[in-house]
Amino acid sequence: MQRRVTTSSSATFIKTIMDIVKKINLLNQATFDSVKQSDIVKVIERFTKTGLKMLDGDFGYVFWRKKKGQAYQLIYQTPGITYKPNPPRKRGYNMLVAKTHRPYMGIVKKERFSKYDLTKYMQSIVIIPIAYRKNIYGNMVLCFKKKHVFTKEERNLTIALGNATAQALAINQFYSELEELVAKRTAQLKATNASLERDKAEDEAILTSIGQGLIATDRQGEIIFINPQVEQMLGWKEDDILHKNIFQFLPLLTQSGQTLPEEERPIHQSLTQGKKVTSRNYYYIGKSGKMIPLSITSSPVKLNGEIIGAIEVFRDITQEKEIDQAKSELISLVSHQLRTPLSGINWYVESLIKEEVGHLNPEQKKYLSEVYRANQKLVELVYDFLNVSRIELGTFNIKLSAINIHSVCQGVLDELQPVIKNKHLKVKTRYTGNRNIFQADHKVITIVMQNLITNAVKYTRPNGNIDILIKIKLKDKISAILSIIVSDNGIGIPQKDQEKIFSKLFRADNIKTLDADGTGLGLYIVKSFIELCGGTIRFRSRENHGTKFYVDIPVSPSGNGKTA
Ligand code: ADP
Repeated sequence: MQRRVTTSSSATFIKTIMDIVKKINLLNQATFDSVKQSDIVKVIERFTKTGLKMLDGDFGYVFWRKKKGQAYQLIYQTPGITYKPNPPRKRGYNMLVAKTHRPYMGIVKKERFSKYDLTKYMQSIVIIPIAYRKNIYGNMVLCFKKKHVFTKEERNLTIALGNATAQALAINQFYSELEELVAKRTAQLKATNASLERDKAEDEAILTSIGQGLIATDRQGEIIFINPQVEQMLGWKEDDILHKNIFQFLPLLTQSGQTLPEEERPIHQSLTQGKKVTSRNYYYIGKSGKMIPLSITSSPVKLNGEIIGAIEVFRDITQEKEIDQAKSELISLVSHQLRTPLSGINWYVESLIKEEVGHLNPEQKKYLSEVYRANQKLVELVYDFLNVSRIELGTFNIKLSAINIHSVCQGVLDELQPVIKNKHLKVKTRYTGNRNIFQADHKVITIVMQNLITNAVKYTRPNGNIDILIKIKLKDKISAILSIIVSDNGIGIPQKDQEKIFSKLFRADNIKTLDADGTGLGLYIVKSFIELCGGTIRFRSRENHGTKFYVDIPVSPSGNGKTA
């Protein structure tokens, strides 16, 4: 007997467990299916039906709102309901559930405030809150025509049903919002892509139709784009060039045909220092071996301030070079032809002024002095032209000879003495180092000294000061540096003009105040000559405060070394 009771109660227990497992399975299945379901009403229907099956209810309905604060709407009801379900009202059970987030399960009583007597339609009711993350989205109402006494398990299952429904709906809502977002973003991306494609087509059309060669490289100098003009100019096909390293595949040559070191190439400076560099001094060598003179502009390509590559644009300037050459040749020819007659005029006028061939009255002397001065200017101009054409035709040859820097400097100062005196300038000359004789090009050293000291004299106001410092720094037995510093407290060079000061024919704006003669060729010649000798020139200047030029020229200490 004892045994039989035990057996039957454990059978009931097992049956109850199986029943719960079945119901949980129903819930799991509904949850699983709802993930694939995009229609929110279908999800609600599925859970309502599952709830009715789990609790053995007769009919049900759901009130739902999309967002907190919106009004509840009847979103689903099982077919055949004969009365109109009421949305949650101030004092009803529905509102209580919505407020407490806890299900109501119990007997239906005749509500005091309701127009309806619900007991006509049902005896028991379950109201399940559909809440997610503290927000209540609705109530699921399951109705029982007959009185139903709810067990503890049924209460737990009801809570699980509420949670599962809420989660399924939250996921559904999340996915639909996501879909909306994805659709919106996809449309945006499509629009952006279309406009990018259009921009790209436009850019490519521009790049391929410009008359200049264009090469784009990445950060390492690998060629990633060329336009058809590169193929035409250099004779290489795109396939030969693309993905090659520009420094290895396309060496840049100097006029003498030597390969320009990588770090001196304009594109290298753009890639490493982010600089825009322009140059007209170099050549590419085409596939046929022909040297092509170029005007090159290289610019860095930056993304968020970081250099990611560079673009080199170049133009074949063969014709311009030929015209330049012809111009330089003409200037050279004319200057050579003018030099002799002008020197002759100088010589004869000088004799006349000195009264070597007869007495002159004061007026005649004055006029002849004017002729002499004007002729002197012409002689200087012709010499400048000759030097410029030598630089540009590459016909200047360095000739070394023993130079006494004291006498070069003194000679220049002697020539300028009348102006120095006239302007009451104080000129101080200092020599340091242990020699004053060395081997260098006499012409270069003289032109450098003449220009720097003449400029200091010209561009310093009366009573100003000029300092000349000359130093020979011995490096070893065979090499030394001649260092020349010429400083003045004159009108200075305006900041905006400083980068152009060594250009041909350039004169700064502020010199107009001084009425000083000049051609704007002096510093161009000086810099070119110094660089031909392997030296450097730089300056520091402040407008109305003064200017200081620093020159370093390699010289040879060999020869007749004398102590200074
Ligand atoms: P210029 O024949 O005009 O003197 P340069 O080539 O010698 O030509 O000099 C170019 C310009 O540089 C001058 O016109 C002047 O504006 C400026 N410059 C050169 N030296 C000085 C200086 N010591 N002080 C002020 N400006 C100077």
